[in-house]
Amino acid sequence: MGNAKITGIKGMNDMLPDQTPVWECFEAAARQAAASYGYRQIRTPILESTALFCRGIGEVTDIVEKEMYSFEDSLNGEKLTLRPEGTSAVVRSAIEHNLTYNAPQRLWYFGPMFRHERPQRGRYRQFYQFGCEALGFAGPDIDIELLAMTHRLWKMLGIDAALELNSLGAAPERAEHRKALIAYLTEHIDLLDEEAKRRLTTNPLRILDTKNPAMQDLVAQAPKLIDFLGPDSLAFLKNLEKGLSSLGIDYTINPRLVRGLDYYNHTVFEWTTDKLGAQGTICGGGRYDPLIGILGGRETPAAGFAMGAERVIELMQEGGKTYETPLCRVYIAHQGGETELVARAIGERLRDAGISTVVHAGSTSFKSQMKRADASMATWVVIAGQEELASHAVSVKRLRDEVGGQVFDEQKRILIDEIETIVRSDTF
Ligand code: ATP
Ligand code: MG
Repeated sequence: MGNAKITGIKGMNDMLPDQTPVWECFEAAARQAAASYGYRQIRTPILESTALFCRGIGEVTDIVEKEMYSFEDSLNGEKLTLRPEGTSAVVRSAIEHNLTYNAPQRLWYFGPMFRHERPQRGRYRQFYQFGCEALGFAGPDIDIELLAMTHRLWKMLGIDAALELNSLGAAPERAEHRKALIAYLTEHIDLLDEEAKRRLTTNPLRILDTKNPAMQDLVAQAPKLIDFLGPDSLAFLKNLEKGLSSLGIDYTINPRLVRGLDYYNHTVFEWTTDKLGAQGTICGGGRYDPLIGILGGRETPAAGFAMGAERVIELMQEGGKTYETPLCRVYIAHQGGETELVARAIGERLRDAGISTVVHAGSTSFKSQMKRADASMATWVVIAGQEELASHAVSVKRLRDEVGGQVFDEQKRILIDEIETIVRSDTF
């Protein structure tokens, strides 16, 4: 009986070595952007109690209704869920460890999230999010800061994105709007799909977020929350707009923008692009003042965002831009036997000096070693030959210049003791 091939899980991607450089570049930029605003990293487990997400995201949402990977712990029957997003877990942790007791917290995270969706371009079952949470800030100053940070990150990555803003106001305003919305949607009940009918009384605001093309006209004509805002909420929004303008950050107000999660208030926003097809939202966020209280903490205002790394990375690669990185700085070829031992010793010596080095392994044919050396994108190849051994020498050849362009220097013989200096100075 043959052994059948076992494949990876649908919608969950391997990140192959060719793809990791662009990921590392994204992660480094995100980390740098967050750190440059004084945000510190937080890491929480990938598994949480199912109850956390039911309460922290809201029962009547796409995520909780149909996208969670939930199961029972086989030992004690505890209900567990692979985290579908980061905010609930960060807030759970902040409450549990009293993080905001003395001072507000600026936090960031990066890691895999899991949602049982139909896999397609820009939509996967395991995907990565980079996110920030500012806990204990009433805004709108911090809302502006979060948007300035994302704006800075797009600049760092060479990405074009458009900012859409909306205000969800405060609870009493949403209640008034909700009444008007239910009345409007009930009037047009025959135009609602099954999901919308179900949500009509439980979470009508979410109907505005429908992806059903047949309902777009209907939701476009629906009563707008922004028309129900009182003076305080309008002033909050105005201050936010003023702050963005003063930083030169362009935006448009989209009155139909509601976010996928419950418990947002005041500011909601999305960064979008038209270069990714249907999955054009690369980052979403806003203010969620009620959430910490809902999860059992002391009432604390907060705001944050989450961005989808796969979508941002697809944009980074727009126009064929590549992110190759050399395997090593030095590639060492040898002729086997004693020369292999010398090659290995030189390798360790160069690594001690902080120079990344690959010592050839496998066939010792000169041609195949040179091919490997070239493919490694190393700047230097060192050849440990039998003939040079007695005089403590090796041959070296520069393959590339500082910017990675090919060069055609002569091969030269040098003393082993000179290698570090030559490699460091990149000339000889
Ligand atoms: P969408 O409307 O595309 O389903 P969402 O409202 O569910 O997005 P959020 O929960 O706000 O998304 O997550 C923030 C960001 O994470 C999204 O803007 C997107 O860039 C990314 N994202 C969400 N779901 C996925 C997924 N299944 N695969 C890849 N990226 C995702
Ligand atoms: Mg979604």
